Amino acid sequence: MKGIVFPGNRKVELLDFPDPTPGPGEVVLEIKASGMCGSDLKFYRAASGASSLGLGAKSGPTIAGHEPCGVVVAVGPGVSEKQARVGMRMMQHHYRGCGVCEHCATGWMQMCVEGVAEVYGITGHGAHARYMKCPARTLVPLPDELSFEAGAAISCGTGTAWGALHRIGMTGDHTIAIFGQGPVGLSATLLAAKMGARVIALDTSDERLARARQFGAEVLIKSKTRTTWCRPSAISPTAAVRIPSLDASSPEARRRYAAYTQLGQRPASWVKATASRWT
Ligand SMILES: [Zn+2]
Ligand SMILES: [Zn+2]
Repeated sequence: MKGIVFPGNRKVELLDFPDPTPGPGEVVLEIKASGMCGSDLKFYRAASGASSLGLGAKSGPTIAGHEPCGVVVAVGPGVSEKQARVGMRMMQHHYRGCGVCEHCATGWMQMCVEGVAEVYGITGHGAHARYMKCPARTLVPLPDELSFEAGAAISCGTGTAWGALHRIGMTGDHTIAIFGQGPVGLSATLLAAKMGARVIALDTSDERLARARQFGAEVLIKSKTRTTWCRPSAISPTAAVRIPSLDASSPEARRRYAAYTQLGQRPASWVKATASRWT
């Protein structure tokens, strides 16, 4: 089969790879949609692809694409009917961990205590090809009412947003500030608004804020700098606001994620405040 590889320096190569066959616990998906994520662009632009970012295949070119969605076409030994059977429509979560540690066992294989064994599309063959092999435990069934394209988006970006909302225990009676309205932030805005929460959307781009409004954000704040931090100490107490950091573009955001799951508070005038008050 042909597979798309990002060797770096904004090049795309279409190379030949053997058709995959599933080993124990594995399946092969026939890919119907494969998304392009913001992180794919990093590998695409970097001097020598993922390897120049400290990632990359152990040997040889790697098929890109970590937002896989498709149909099961082959099932290896040891995969139960309930996990996967031929013909099932599936999304795929693109990490392979040990499968048994406390993180893997609760579905957070990207945090495997043994270290992530494979990141599909980056250190292992991904979904920019006709077929993709992966462990059955990395699959999530795709409901009939969702398209393959929607499933591909959910496999990474939108799923990441859902994971963040789930982690902070957000419910429809919360107010949530979402920092950054890129694909992940917009997904969080869409999901939170649909759940009934009041969404305060922050971004530097008018276009993204306009999209956030379409997706249900009630309050828009245009930040003055790329990274905007809300200092809970600067907010006077009138109403509770959950302040997660959902700016996936910022490593700082990820590092400080835990601090921003705490409850903050806001003054009545917060909606009118300029972003500089919060940076
Ligand atoms: Zn991604
Ligand atoms: Zn593990």
